[in-house]
Amino acid sequence: MTDTYLNLVNSGFTKKLAKQLGLPRPAVLRRHSPGAPLVPGPVLVLADAASGKDADALAATLLDWDLDVRRHGGDDRYGAVVVVLTEVGAPAELGAPMLELGGVLRSLAPGGRVVTVSRAPSDAAPAVAAARQGVDGMLRSLAKELRAGATGNGIVLDDGVGVDAPSAVGALRFLLSGRSAFVDGQLVHVGSTGGAVPADWDRPLDGTVAVVTGAARGIGAAIARTLSRDGATVVVVDVPGAGDALAKVANEVRGTALQLDVTADDAAQRLLEHVSARYGRLDVVVHNAGILRDKLLVNMRPERWDPVLAVNVTAPLRITEALLASGTLGPAPRVIGLASTSGIAGNRGQTNYGASKAGVIGMVRASATALASAGGTINAVAPGFIETDMTARIPFATREVARRLNSLQQGGQPIDVAETIAFLASPQAGGINGQVVRVCGQNMVGA
Ligand code: NAD
Repeated sequence: MTDTYLNLVNSGFTKKLAKQLGLPRPAVLRRHSPGAPLVPGPVLVLADAASGKDADALAATLLDWDLDVRRHGGDDRYGAVVVVLTEVGAPAELGAPMLELGGVLRSLAPGGRVVTVSRAPSDAAPAVAAARQGVDGMLRSLAKELRAGATGNGIVLDDGVGVDAPSAVGALRFLLSGRSAFVDGQLVHVGSTGGAVPADWDRPLDGTVAVVTGAARGIGAAIARTLSRDGATVVVVDVPGAGDALAKVANEVRGTALQLDVTADDAAQRLLEHVSARYGRLDVVVHNAGILRDKLLVNMRPERWDPVLAVNVTAPLRITEALLASGTLGPAPRVIGLASTSGIAGNRGQTNYGASKAGVIGMVRASATALASAGGTINAVAPGFIETDMTARIPFATREVARRLNSLQQGGQPIDVAETIAFLASPQAGGINGQVVRVCGQNMVGA
């Protein structure tokens, strides 16, 4: 689905007119394209007084990626600013690095990035915890101030996880890149030193086998293409009624199609049989299949309530449980569920959908220990407004409001959700477990 308004305010005469009228002007986002630079300009690394050592280590990582790294603000047009706050000991210590960041923000390139690197407040002394938690509020506020498609996100490390841990490095690269175009105002939590930096950053999923449910169209089809681009062999799953579209996606990604209703009693068994017979292994499972049956609760009937819960959360629960019990998962399995901002902030007319999507969040949090024991991770991605067939059915006026109500003033594309899922599926995300990453352009509702 196209966003006509976004196209108009970014071209020719209508661009000028929108500027004169003071209309919102959503930017064309900087998305990943093979061969394009990781960051659109030099990267400035700032730090509070105590975090210099970690800043040096991160700067070395950035230099390894052939980026142009600066340690002091100047007259450059920066592609990104990384602010290292890992050793901050009291709220007053946030001032110096943040004011230095403020001094260079006007020089941030369109599509630029601000990334903070800090530590989780849990178990720290009160003043340390206050400073660490302060980063959260500061980052979310800053992201709302950035313009021209620039985003602000943070990486939060548990104590004991170094800035050179695979997932600290992996998250930094993801957040700097065009792959995180619609991730904004988010803090990605790295809880362990697990995972591994891939041999090839462009094909981190080489040699793996992935299953994507609901892959005949929309976000699911984009996930299948993206996992395939990153090296995975992909099995695409959808209901028999979507068979033709599913076969097209399977051909495109050179994978295989499995026509399957994920709510069927034998869904997990059929999935396992398909994967075992063809590939003999399974590494990544993306529970993307999802449906809406919106109604105010006063008008809700079981035929609208039950299928939403069955497809969106009961099927992922049952399939995940069966896969874990089967013992057929690869050595570092990745399970990813599709939540929604409706499951976080709530949405009128969506008590059923909200229950199912919050349920997915409950599922990943409660399954993290079991996945860790199997050497893997389970996480959820919570999209905001994404331009798909699902959202195309929303009445025009509601849709127009919904797609503008975020810091980037536009809906995301299916590829934006797919990129975050591909990151969570990758070896470099092995230290991220039981988390929810929102892909919502910093949706104003419940942000
Ligand atoms: P979509 O309706 O375009 O596609 C969903 C796919 O799931 C369809 O191909 C459908 O046939 C398939 N499916 C439905 N029931 C199934 C079943 N029982 N078994 C197998 N396949 C089944 O939806 P989309 O917009 O691409 O959304 C994909 C996921 O992202 C869903 O879980 C949705 O809830 C979630 N999501 C979407 C948005 C958005 O703005 N589009 C926002 C938040 C979350």
